[in-house]
Amino acid sequence: MLVVKKFGGSSVADKERIFNVAKRCIEEYEKGNQVVVVLSAMGKTTDGLIAKALEINPNPPKREMDMLLTTGEQVSVALMAMAMNSLGVPAVSLNAAQVAMHTTSAYGTAKLKRIDTERIRHELEARKIVIVTGFQGVNKYEDLTTLGRGGSDTTAVALAAALHADACEIYTDVDGVYTADPHIVPNARKLPEVSYDEMLEFASLGAKVLHNRSVEMAKRYGVQLVVLSSLTRAEGTVVKEETKLERMLVSGVAADKNVARISVIGVKNTPGIAFKIFNLLARHNINVDIIIQSIGREERKDISFTVAQTDLKDTMDLLLENKDSITAQDVTSEECVAKVSIIGAGMTGNPGVAAKMFEALSSANVNIKMIATSEIRITVLIDEADVNRAMRTVHDAFDLAD
Ligand code: ADP
Ligand code: ASP
Ligand code: MG
Repeated sequence: MLVVKKFGGSSVADKERIFNVAKRCIEEYEKGNQVVVVLSAMGKTTDGLIAKALEINPNPPKREMDMLLTTGEQVSVALMAMAMNSLGVPAVSLNAAQVAMHTTSAYGTAKLKRIDTERIRHELEARKIVIVTGFQGVNKYEDLTTLGRGGSDTTAVALAAALHADACEIYTDVDGVYTADPHIVPNARKLPEVSYDEMLEFASLGAKVLHNRSVEMAKRYGVQLVVLSSLTRAEGTVVKEETKLERMLVSGVAADKNVARISVIGVKNTPGIAFKIFNLLARHNINVDIIIQSIGREERKDISFTVAQTDLKDTMDLLLENKDSITAQDVTSEECVAKVSIIGAGMTGNPGVAAKMFEALSSANVNIKMIATSEIRITVLIDEADVNRAMRTVHDAFDLAD
């Protein structure tokens, strides 16, 4: 059997945790299985590296940023190989270039295109545990790239798909996927199973327990995932195509604080303006989420939308530079906002779900700034200060607690 095991930053944060992971992987190896381990950088290393870079240059070149951030994962894989070695088990660490994991060229947001499996296979056949850096790849210029924050999950799923692994296990600091972030909603309930589609919504709407692209990839290649704790032996959550469980109306609540609202004020009320604005953003690779357009007064109207907070500065610069061509009288922004969403495949065709969510928010005195819906989610934009309270209230309203 070939098993891919991924451990996040908190699972390898210090010497004790590294040995804990090493021993768990060795257990698997001693069953006679082939073991591929994917690691994140230790603890909050990536945050620390970003802070260091910004101290030197507030607008660092993206290529150099990736050169810097990829060092974090390289440290943890080398230390892990040393730990396993000290426990008497042969192990080898490989970075993305050594594997090689080929990506698109976009630094900071690279996408995996192809993985060469030859080197890994060769090492596994020599009965070594193979430890691979998460979160990174190599592009056509032979430069190191990164897959976006939280990207190690995607590395693990991609490797599991490329190696036709029998299992892909994602170990983290919680023992599964819950109805809401258990660190914010203490009475959240663990889900034994969750479908790819629901997990994709969860991940895209802020539940960082899995990187959203890892779920997309798992669905595309039919990789069944298990999310579990690196510290306990509790049964985790299985992420797969269809779940046997009866469909809940709402399966969970997610929040995303990496959000900012932008309003383009007083644009001309004529065809083609929305196209101009969003085409401009698309060409600069800026993702837009909730969009609201006012009905318009006489010749003018306002268009508001949300972007990731990390894209706010670039978006504002771009819109202000192009203020005349998009016919805007003003462009404003608000940073301290967040999205709270409810997710559930059972929501389709069930009226009243939105009303129930809004009722809960109103009873907690939370003001709604924007609303967006799809077949299986409802999202509201609120003040960031209200997020935790909103999550708990909505979680209670749908009886999701343990
Ligand atoms: P890792 O470093 O292992 O990749 P992350 O910090 O990226 O771990 O993801 C795990 C965290 O995700 C948990 O500590 C938890 O706070 C958060 N989280 C958010 N939503 C959920 C959810 N619905 N279920 C479980 N964890 C969640
Ligand atoms: N170390 C990277 C990050 O902090 C990747 C990961 O943890 O998945 O975002
Ligand atoms: Mg993560």
